[in-house]
Amino acid sequence: MLSKISQLREEAMAAIAEADSQERLDKVRVQYLGKKGELTALLRGLGQVDPQQRPVIGQAVNSLRADLEQALADKGAVLAEQEQAARLAKEKIDITLPGRRPQIGTFHPLTIVLREIQEIFLGMGYEVAEGPEVETDYYNFEALNIPAEHPARDMWDTLYTAGNTLLRTHTSPVQVRTMERMQPQVPIKIIAPGRVYRRDALDASHSPVFNQVEGLVVDRGITFADLKGTLVLFVQKMFGKDRQVRFRPSFFPFTEPSAEVDVSCIVCNGAGCRLCSQTGWLEILGAGSVHPRVLEMSGYDPTVYSGFAFGLGVDRIALLKYGIDDIRHLYENNWSFLKQFRTE
Ligand SMILES: [Zn+2]
Repeated sequence: MLSKISQLREEAMAAIAEADSQERLDKVRVQYLGKKGELTALLRGLGQVDPQQRPVIGQAVNSLRADLEQALADKGAVLAEQEQAARLAKEKIDITLPGRRPQIGTFHPLTIVLREIQEIFLGMGYEVAEGPEVETDYYNFEALNIPAEHPARDMWDTLYTAGNTLLRTHTSPVQVRTMERMQPQVPIKIIAPGRVYRRDALDASHSPVFNQVEGLVVDRGITFADLKGTLVLFVQKMFGKDRQVRFRPSFFPFTEPSAEVDVSCIVCNGAGCRLCSQTGWLEILGAGSVHPRVLEMSGYDPTVYSGFAFGLGVDRIALLKYGIDDIRHLYENNWSFLKQFRTE
């Protein structure tokens, strides 16, 4: 009997050692310690053993049971650890693979230039004002001294939505809206950036939609000299200290006197080249002293107050600043073009 027990111990210990999964180990447990297991059968047979030997054999069986239980528990722990390690290895994320980088966008060149313009004027104490892109005839023309039959309307042919509403042809209506809102307070010192529309076909230098920045200053004692000083400072901040500025007499119904403002060519520096059509100058904006009638219509007495206004084309400045030769590039959303203007 004792040799049987020792044989069983060897077999069972070997089976436990060989078990390579929890499942196998459970089978081993059932095989030896289960209700119909070999050790249980051994205990049942104890009744036929000589009563004198019974305590010795009983002790041997119990000791084997205890040893097997311990061995099963130990092996179980080892297997559990191995299985978890295997699972972790299988589920491991390979962090050496390159991730998918989200494509980082860039600011549009018009946005970059607009922000620069705004920064320059905000630095001079201006505030930003806005107005609607769908405007009434009154604000776009009438209040700017361009009555219904005025020939100047031909300069600003536009798209009418219905009746007296139209897509604004310039940011100048914001001048009127601001004066109406502010009157009779002074000073007024605003810039008004925004989209404007013209009845133009899209070609290398024209677009039916483009961007302007309007400027308006109204106060007591504002002169044309203030306008000149402001624009020279702006040009030098925008295009560099060496730029020359030229004022040419011009006509706008809402300013008197009026001027077109040129900057010395940024490519040839005045010598003459293809960009400036051999003139040495590039036109960048229109300006003038606010027409007394415009002041009057918006609630400011022109014998007390005066002002100046200017309107510059953001597109034009972007084209010049970056040497872009076709305005259509600004509106085609071509990524290989736009990504060149990455700013950090
Ligand atoms: Zn030039």
